[in-house]
Amino acid sequence: MNTCIFCRIVEGSMPAKLVRQDELSLAFEDINPQAPTHILVIPKRHIRSVQEAGENDAGLLGHLMLACKEIAKERGLAEAGYRVVTNVGSYGGQTVFHLHFHLLGGRHMTWPPG
Ligand code: 5GP
Ligand code: ZN
Repeated sequence: MNTCIFCRIVEGSMPAKLVRQDELSLAFEDINPQAPTHILVIPKRHIRSVQEAGENDAGLLGHLMLACKEIAKERGLAEAGYRVVTNVGSYGGQTVFHLHFHLLGGRHMTWPPG
């Protein structure tokens, strides 16, 4: 069995509230939402973090960012604004080591982040 929980969501052996998917990516609701909208957008292929992405992944990374944009539009977040963030490694606060973009919206975000 795959030990990566996001790979398990991709293969369907772990339940998730799916928002959107295509051949390269999957989007689903975060289990512990930090904003009224909190969606995770991930590549179906396992990549540990953006730090492990290569030159060949440039298109995929753009694809994931555009998926965030589309979901933001569908959810009515575009006008008020929203945040897209990816955490990398320990200091970045990454806890699941399968690349993901957090799409957060529905409230005013603060800066700097904690
Ligand atoms: P990170 O801390 O790595 O940037 O973000 C990991 C995110 O994954 C967290 O926001 C956490 O709530 C979410 N998460 C962890 N386990 C699961 C799970 O099994 N299902 C879903 N839907 N989200 C998860
Ligand atoms: Zn994975």
